[in-house]
Amino acid sequence: MPRQIVGKGLRLTLRHAPCAHICRYCLISETRKGSALPFARFEQLVHRFYDWKLADHRDDLEIGVFVGPSFDYDLETLRGVARLRARRGGKFQILNLGGLRIRRGEALTAWLEERQSAGIIGFHTSLAGCDETHDRWNGRRGDFAYQTAILRLGGERGMVRHERLFLTQNTLPHFDRLLDILDGIPGEVRNRYVTLFFYAGLAPRYENERITEEIRDALPERIGRLRQGKFVDWRSEREWIPLMMEVADRPRRLILKLDVHEGNIDALEKSSCEEIFAARERLYQDSYRPIPSLAELCTRYGDPESRKVYMMSRDVEGRWLDLHARETGIKPPID
Ligand code: SF4
Repeated sequence: MPRQIVGKGLRLTLRHAPCAHICRYCLISETRKGSALPFARFEQLVHRFYDWKLADHRDDLEIGVFVGPSFDYDLETLRGVARLRARRGGKFQILNLGGLRIRRGEALTAWLEERQSAGIIGFHTSLAGCDETHDRWNGRRGDFAYQTAILRLGGERGMVRHERLFLTQNTLPHFDRLLDILDGIPGEVRNRYVTLFFYAGLAPRYENERITEEIRDALPERIGRLRQGKFVDWRSEREWIPLMMEVADRPRRLILKLDVHEGNIDALEKSSCEEIFAARERLYQDSYRPIPSLAELCTRYGDPESRKVYMMSRDVEGRWLDLHARETGIKPPID
């Protein structure tokens, strides 16, 4: 019996602002190429979904938006993204530095101050080690110095920051130096957390960099206390398996993704939100049909001895789906 799939929301994405990084672990590699669709048409479509959710009292449904792959937006797009965020009751105030083009000197200061005047109060940085280690992971020489220079400029202007620090076998030895550098940058750190790679995008190529239970359990206190936020359950595959099997027969509730681009916008504009959502859900269900149940995947591909650590059970399942694809030629389902 294939797994039952239920859409619990829709995430509309637009590949609008090109990414200037080539991260080796890129989690969203499929959306790095740009789309020619004007932002205004995308925005209109998303507003229609928010109107539908409101009118139909679909409180159970999550409508999300991702305009990427980088946040290197012009000011008009930035205001548009803020309008969409406001529909969810939030404020768009933190700009992600991932994939930003290089700007120097006055051009960089002007860029930063323009965004501050437009309501941006801080920056989010993702760092994989420091210096050359980070630059190598991110595929751009000088990127660590660039991102920390922006954090410094922002801090000096009263801006805050969020820091996501990737922990892998090769970033671990650099953590003390990384934290010393970050602690030396002025400005308020709103949140700082340590994260592992999800098993997604290009990251599965680096399974040998994944930390093990032994490393997790011996993390220095300075790093261990940064395990915060949504994904704090760092478990090895052998620890995840019993938990996954407890809920193996439950339907999977997913946020369905919809990439909006110049090739599908006409059709989307002509369809109702119900039709779009239902069609998307069917597509996901179809893609899961040839996939064995979770319990069967586990029997075939689960490794009850593996001490490699993952942040989500879905990461472990992703590994099994890849092994299944390799063995049978059946592509993993849409994710
Ligand atoms: S910044 Fe890195 S992870 Fe983000 S889209 Fe660009 S290459 Fe991918």
